[in-house]
This record gives sequence, structure tokens and C-alpha cells, in this order.
Amino acid sequence: MKDINILWFKKDLRIDDNEALLESLKDCDILPIYIFEIEVWNQKTHSRRQWQFCKESVLDLRNSLNELGQPLIIKTGKVIKIFEEISSKFNIKGIYSHQETGDWITYKRDQEVKLWASSKKIIWKEYLQFSVFRGNLNRDNWSKKWRKNVERELIKPPSYINPIDFDIGDIPEEKIFPFEKDECPGRLKGGRKNEIKRMQYFFKEKLSSYSKNISSPEKSFDSCSRLSPYISWGCLSLREILYNSNLHKNNNSKMLKSRLTWHCHFIQKLESEPELEFQDFHPYFKNIRKKKAELLFLWSIGNTGFPFIDACMRSLNFNGWINFRMRAMLMSFASYNLWLPWQDSGSELANKFIDYEPGIHWNQCQMQSGTTSINTNRIYNPIKQGKDHDPKGEFIKKWVPELKNVYDNFIHEPWLMSNFNSEEYAKLDYIKPIVDIHKTSREARQKIKEITQKKGYWDISKKIYLKHGSRKKTAINRIPKKVTNKKLIQYELNLGL
Ligand SMILES: Cc1cc2nc3c(=O)[nH]c(=O)nc-3n(C[C@H](O)[C@H](O)[C@H](O)COP(=O)(O)OP(=O)(O)OC[C@H]3O[C@@H](n4cnc5c(N)ncnc54)[C@H](O)[C@@H]3O)c2cc1C
Repeated sequence: MKDINILWFKKDLRIDDNEALLESLKDCDILPIYIFEIEVWNQKTHSRRQWQFCKESVLDLRNSLNELGQPLIIKTGKVIKIFEEISSKFNIKGIYSHQETGDWITYKRDQEVKLWASSKKIIWKEYLQFSVFRGNLNRDNWSKKWRKNVERELIKPPSYINPIDFDIGDIPEEKIFPFEKDECPGRLKGGRKNEIKRMQYFFKEKLSSYSKNISSPEKSFDSCSRLSPYISWGCLSLREILYNSNLHKNNNSKMLKSRLTWHCHFIQKLESEPELEFQDFHPYFKNIRKKKAELLFLWSIGNTGFPFIDACMRSLNFNGWINFRMRAMLMSFASYNLWLPWQDSGSELANKFIDYEPGIHWNQCQMQSGTTSINTNRIYNPIKQGKDHDPKGEFIKKWVPELKNVYDNFIHEPWLMSNFNSEEYAKLDYIKPIVDIHKTSREARQKIKEITQKKGYWDISKKIYLKHGSRKKTAINRIPKKVTNKKLIQYELNLGL
């Protein structure tokens, strides 16, 4: 039988700066493959909009590989079964892929593939997809390792790949997946070519004003990079963005670089502790919140009675993307004001994002719910956020047309109209607030405080910090003092920081 290497594409859908591709070609011909796994797409966190983005990116990758001589093989089903099928026709010498810090299902699947490969004496070589390190026990020297990896040179794609005779397969029909009706007309399109357009546009036209409108829900659509879905699906590498960013030495490029560090900083936490997808960072927060299906539903469709929350959610439902500040506010509202388990609201949010990245997502969901114990807690006030970032209510009126005739001075709190013009207020076809924002914020703050006062709370918290906390001075300043007391910092210094 002919010797081959399998090049297994996961969430690294590109031929540029692809170390697995480069290495796989060194000793024999390759079979490049992408596998749609039904079990993965069955999850609550996955959705039709992500599937469409992924499909566009996979087809684009097939074209790029085709131009090199060997099209992408596209299969659907269980990875091991498909590898078994290949091994009945070829002698598989090695499997080449990037390391994936995915969700619990892909983590378990990778363990099974590892066992299968070793039982067949097949080597599985995995390369760094991001600057996230496997087997990292704590955060000592992490930033140095991050820098070293991102400063490596970009890898050029090969000029030719020998074709191999094997059924190339096709994209599966959508109906085999359990997707709900999910139109997302405003989303970015997948694929490397669309990514390049977006990246060039951002660096040429927008980098100079990057920081200016980053928190405005409307203006950030144009001023943020919006590269996140392309990063999550691997249509481009972090090194490629940093390479472009380094051509512009200014405060905005520095800001972008620090965000790309956060990207890996968060994913590293899930890599080091995959249970964080469903388990609280700090065990004292376990099960403190109760499921409430109706509140979850109203929040998810943008019908809470808080105009700015509803506008943000409806915009997200339409576009598959919203900026950081608004994501944080939506999550904070679900966790503190509606007191919903972050696992439930987090899954709802995840499937709306075309950039869903488990490592960032679950960490952020926990941060905005106060369960990490190593971050300063922030309960966002949606009325204040609305006044700050949409003072005239234009964004609200765009997404919540029920309020289009409401005067500017009531647009953030339409219920106040009842004090002045109860008839007009009664005519409004808009839901009344589903909770009392001030009371629920106060109660949430108190509940979290009571937990932090329980015996042994801060001892556990210190251990969490040692494992996951950033060692940067600026980050340490934002961590509760009880966690980063002098003794602990000294302990860290002794460890060689
Ligand atoms: C509750 C919640 C859930 C989130 N879920 C995701 C997710 O599933 N996928 C995802 O990519 N981001 C997530 N984020 C982080 C952040 O909101 C997005 O990365 C950012 O809005 C993407 O837009 P952009 O590409 O224009 O970012 P830019 O501001 O242009 O930043 C460039 C890149 O830096 C990284 N980045 C930026 N902000 C952060 C951050 N706060 N944490 C980590 N990395 C960051 C992203 O890769 C981003 O593409 C979440 C934030 C919150 C509060």
C-alpha cells in the first residue's frame, strides 16, 4: 500500500502560515481532509450561522488546495471511522494537525484519536495553532513564551501537492444537522478571500481610529477589526495579523497586540482546565443560580423591557457579532439581574456568535458572572450603558422599532413616561421591564459578597490565581487584593517570575 500522511484540518482552515501542512509534506504525499462531526454540530453552542461560515471557509480551502494539485477531502461522520477507511486503502505514516483547544466533546475525541493512532503505530504530530501551550502547569513565563511563538517567521504555502486517488467527498446536506431556523443576514462571509478583504480594509482604513469607537454598539461594526470569526475558524493566523500590525507602529497597533495576547491568555485557561466549560472556577459558586426557561427566552430574543439590552441582543441575532462591551453587558444582565446559570445563557450567546471560541467564551461568561474569584466583579447598568454609548437612542430605535416614536429623554427608560403621560405609555407596544434593575443588582452583589465571606474562600481563590492568573503588573492591579497579597506575590517571585 502507498505511504501517506493525513493532514487533518480542524479550526485552521487556511494554507498560509500552516505549520502542519509544511511538516506533513516532508516525507510523503498527503491526504488533506476536513471532517464534519455530527456530534460536535449537535451541541447547543453550535448553530446554522456558524455552519454556514464554516462551510464557506471549507469550500474556499478546497479551492486553494485544488490549485496546488490536491483538493480537500470532505467527509462527514466520526473521525476514527473515517481514518479507518483511509487506512484500509493506504499505509498511514502520520497524522498532522494543529493543536485544538476546543470544547469538551473535541477534547474527548482527541483523546480517542490519540489512543487509536498509537494502537496502529501511527504518529500524530500537532503544531501550535495559537500561543497556547499544552501541559502548562501555571502562568510562569507565559508571556515570554507567547512572544517567542508569535515572533516566528510566517510560513509560505507549498507550490505543489501531488494528487492522490481518493473520493474527495462533499459538503453534507444541511438537513442532517438539528439546526433551528436561524437567519443571520448581517454576518460576515467565511473563507480566506473574505478575510483578506476585511484585514486589508481594517489596516488601511480603520486602524488609525481603532480605539475611538470600540465600545459603541453601532460604530464598532466598522471600527473594530471584526477579525474574530476568521481567527476562530483559522482562516488566518495570529502571526499574520501581528505581522500586519507591526507595519504600523502606534498606540492602536499596540492595543490590537494586547488584545491578541488576551485571546491566547483566555484560551490557555481552558487548555489547562477543560472542565471550565461547565464547572465554576471557584467551587463555592456551584449551583447558586437556578434555571428559568421563560426569562432565558425573553433575554435571548431581546424582549426584556430594557431598550438597550434588547437592541443589542436583536442586533447580535441579526449580525452574529457584537463588540466586547455589549457582550459583557448582555452576560452581566443574564447572570446578575436575571440570576440565570451562566452555562445556560452562555450556550445561548455562543450559538449566536459566528466567532464562538470556547476558550475565550466560557472564561468571559464566568468573568461576567463573578465566579472566577480572581477578577474584579462588574455589574453593568444597562440604562447607564445606553446613555453612554447611544445617547440619542438611535441604535435603540433601529433595533427596537416599537420605541421609534418615544422622545429621546425617555428612550432609555420608557416606563418613566407613565409619570407624565400614562395614556401614551399605555399605547406603547413594548414589554414592561421583566425585573427591577436596581433591586436585582443590589441582591446579586449581596449574594456574591456572602459567598466570598465563607470560610476558606480566599485560600481556594489564591490557588486559582496561581494556576490561571495573569502575572502582568497591570492585570495584578485589577485582581482583588486578598488574592494578590504581598506574601503571595513574594511566593511567585521566588518561583522566578
Ligand atoms: C461574554 C463574552 C463572550 C465572548 N465570546 C467570545 C467568543 O466566543 N469568541 C471570541 O473570539 N471572542 C469572544 N469574546 C471576546 C470579544 O468580545 C471578541 O473577541 C471581540 O468582540 C471580537 O471582535 P473583533 O474581532 O473586532 O475584536 P478586536 O477588538 O478587533 O480585537 C482583535 C482580536 O483580539 C481578540 N480579543 C479582543 N478582545 C478580546 C477579549 N476581551 N478576550 C479575548 N480575546 C479578545 C479577538 O481574537 C479579536 O478578534 C467574548 C466576550 C464576552 C464578554
